[in-house]
Amino acid sequence: MFQQPLPNEYTELSDEDTSERIGKAKSSLGRDLVILGHHYQRDEIIRWADFRGDSLKLSQLAAKNCGARYIVFCGVHFMAETADILTSDQQIVVLPNLAAGCSMADMASIHQLNHCWQTITRHVPSEKIVPITYVNSSAEVKAFVGRNGGACCTSSNARKVLEWALTQGEKALFLPDQHLGRNTAFQLGFDPDRDMLLWDPNQPMGGIAPDDYLSKKILLWKGHCSVHGRFNLHQIEAARKLHSGIKIIVHPECTLDVVKAADMAGSTEFIVKQISQASAGSSWAVGTEINLVNRLAQEHPDQHIACLDPIICPCSTMYRIHPHFLCWALENLAQGKVVNRIQVSPKIADDARLSLERMLSIV
Ligand code: SF4
Repeated sequence: MFQQPLPNEYTELSDEDTSERIGKAKSSLGRDLVILGHHYQRDEIIRWADFRGDSLKLSQLAAKNCGARYIVFCGVHFMAETADILTSDQQIVVLPNLAAGCSMADMASIHQLNHCWQTITRHVPSEKIVPITYVNSSAEVKAFVGRNGGACCTSSNARKVLEWALTQGEKALFLPDQHLGRNTAFQLGFDPDRDMLLWDPNQPMGGIAPDDYLSKKILLWKGHCSVHGRFNLHQIEAARKLHSGIKIIVHPECTLDVVKAADMAGSTEFIVKQISQASAGSSWAVGTEINLVNRLAQEHPDQHIACLDPIICPCSTMYRIHPHFLCWALENLAQGKVVNRIQVSPKIADDARLSLERMLSIV
């Protein structure tokens, strides 16, 4: 399914008219509607969100609000899929712009994963290797993981899920984010050179010699987040030079050297919590998406909060949820027309739910 061009009626709307029409459509839908806003969305979207959070928290909230017939997910494609998997059959999940994907999730297709699994399990029996997928992955990838005895993880529970996986088998395959996988395994005492191996889905046989599987505990998928991959050690050094006493807090989708050099690393919810609880006068350089950093700075004017990368761009795919798209989706719903529904097929949803439920039973 591709995003059709928006009718001119919407693209030509002024900011004021867009807000007025979103407000009207939202109130006419009343309790039938819940709008979810991911932390990385721009302020013009977040102001309409009934709930704000990270991807899994929002999907769980959608499932709890089972009275809402329509869930409008202002986030990216995999998040809307997860919401559809976790909500009831009566609930309809809408992604205002279908072009809002996630470049990291797109780095692991089901075909690449099937190829990887077939290749590895020629050398390592499948019961000895446990797949783990970060929630930033397609429903098909989550379903594969569910069918093969593995679990999903988030950036806040990756450690517990990896520990669990290594009690279920001898090795773990972690996808699609190599950095979250490497950082988590490092935290557990594994050495990147000695214990980990990188599978490149764009190379024949993953670019790895089969004998190499045998000695390694963790197989990492060569995927990354283009936003968090931009942070580096020079920025950390510069921030420390500029403000003495500054605290560097980063997301674990950053590289291992950045996480090691930072004062703290954790999920978006962790970052929000640390800064919200800090005392007035605290100074922070934050290694995560700019919309969240700017919002934290506005909400805590008594602290100095800046992005670790002064020229960072927002997540370009999250940014595709423009208020014009939200207006278009809501006005259609208000007229009883569903546009941009995200619906995971029942078989995929059942298997994907397995991997999500397994994660929830671990943490
Ligand atoms: S910030 Fe990175 S991981 Fe998150 S949606 Fe954007 S590209 Fe994907």
